[in-house]
Amino acid sequence: MTQVTESKLYDLIGIGFGPSNLALAIALEEQTYGHKPYNVLFLDKQADYRWHGNTLVSQSELQISFLKDLVSLRNPESRYSFVNYLHKHHRLVDFINLGTLYPCRMEFNDYLRWVAGHFKGLCRYGEEVQVIEPIMRDGIVEALRVVSRDINGIERSKKTRSVVISTGGTPSIPKVFQPFQGDPRIFHHAEYISRMARMGITPSTSIRIAIIGSGQSAAEAFIDLNDCYPSVRTDLILRGSALKPADDTPFVNEIFAPEFTDLIYKQDSAERARIIEEYHNTNYSVVDINLIERIYGIFYRQKVEAKNRHVYRRLTNVEQAIADNDGIVLDLHDRSTGKTSSERYDAVILATGYERKLHRQLLSPLEKYLGEFKVNRDYRIQADNRCKPAIYMQGFCESTHGLSDTLLSVLPYRAEEIATSFRNYLYDSYTVIKEKKASLGTVQV
Ligand SMILES: Cc1cc2nc3c(=O)[nH]c(=O)nc-3n(C[C@H](O)[C@H](O)[C@H](O)COP(=O)(O)OP(=O)(O)OC[C@H]3O[C@@H](n4cnc5c(N)ncnc54)[C@H](O)[C@@H]3O)c2cc1C
Repeated sequence: MTQVTESKLYDLIGIGFGPSNLALAIALEEQTYGHKPYNVLFLDKQADYRWHGNTLVSQSELQISFLKDLVSLRNPESRYSFVNYLHKHHRLVDFINLGTLYPCRMEFNDYLRWVAGHFKGLCRYGEEVQVIEPIMRDGIVEALRVVSRDINGIERSKKTRSVVISTGGTPSIPKVFQPFQGDPRIFHHAEYISRMARMGITPSTSIRIAIIGSGQSAAEAFIDLNDCYPSVRTDLILRGSALKPADDTPFVNEIFAPEFTDLIYKQDSAERARIIEEYHNTNYSVVDINLIERIYGIFYRQKVEAKNRHVYRRLTNVEQAIADNDGIVLDLHDRSTGKTSSERYDAVILATGYERKLHRQLLSPLEKYLGEFKVNRDYRIQADNRCKPAIYMQGFCESTHGLSDTLLSVLPYRAEEIATSFRNYLYDSYTVIKEKKASLGTVQV
């Protein structure tokens, strides 16, 4: 395998260039008034900027106010706001006429791409980070080696003083479906659009599809199959007893306020876990109420017309899956009747959520310095004193920083907190940077 080793030492490498690291790029730029006192680079495995690109069906809407964009909460005057994006695209008045706080996700994706375009010089796309290794000197981890593979299969390694891991969630595949990961007919919702296209499914393709799950993704896939593929019959299979609504009422929504991060962080671990569990129904295994009503309406009309195009299977566990040339047979255990039946499908969509474990895999060579991967309030992993580099994480701190950690809710604040901590770390740890600071003059934090 071809290997390329860069000699440059970066101050910071951001892994992933989704909304979290985009918000960080903005915060770094705004904290330094557009000067470039640091050598910063972001790496993203995608060929270009896309925000959950394979889920962007026409019905999908942002589940948070557009005012919680990459920057407005922290700096409403920023040129990177969603409002400025609308203004630059000559849609501000039209958007106001829509009368919504919740633009479609396609538009929000376009906004994020527009911001990412401003930072083109800071990001290398098509590079998937494989691992982060220690660079040792006299028994001390002096810096980090970030090893990635690019789209041509070339292994690249880069040196850095610090990293921010912001790689998002990894599709969670239930055990029963794990043996079928190479089967093009069984796929996670994260791949919905490309897999539907690869299977050649068109509005006239007459097939039967199972959706496994009861959250927002399952509901969006169901609506898309219903609306755009009139010949597809869908079974919605859920372990729970009903599709349940996401609670986004105002008092509950306060848990997504920036101040709530402090409140959660100050608690002991048992109380943090209790609070997170109490508010679980704001984000996990829940669906926007308007989608629930639409889905209920679809099933009701089926009853009126005495049709049975789709089936709603609640309290149902998938016990076994067998794939052959004619399709996928699922053994479905209905807990309300105690009976198990076998159903054949042409495809299975796993709307089964996301895991957050990739940081441990990427940082495995540094494990002995990082202990339990505990994180300070500034999102820096607590390392022992043999490890000098700063390692930050975004999106892997829900258990300590609360439910906003995996969402868009506090991105601008979190980015500023990390940018400030990174700047202090750099100035405190490296004399050469102290000199840069002096030459830069006033840097506001
Ligand atoms: C379908 C969907 C809809 C959502 N809608 C909302 C919403 O409406 N409101 C809300 O608040 N939250 C929503 N979320 C939650 C979502 O996590 C956040 O919106 C947001 O995407 C988090 O940003 P991020 O940068 O941390 O992660 P991501 O957006 O997941 O970005 C991570 C980036 O890292 C890259 N990457 C991953 N691994 C590597 C690697 N090894 N090397 C290099 N690059 C890598 C990926 O290509 C990706 O670009 C949604 C999530 C999903 C899946």
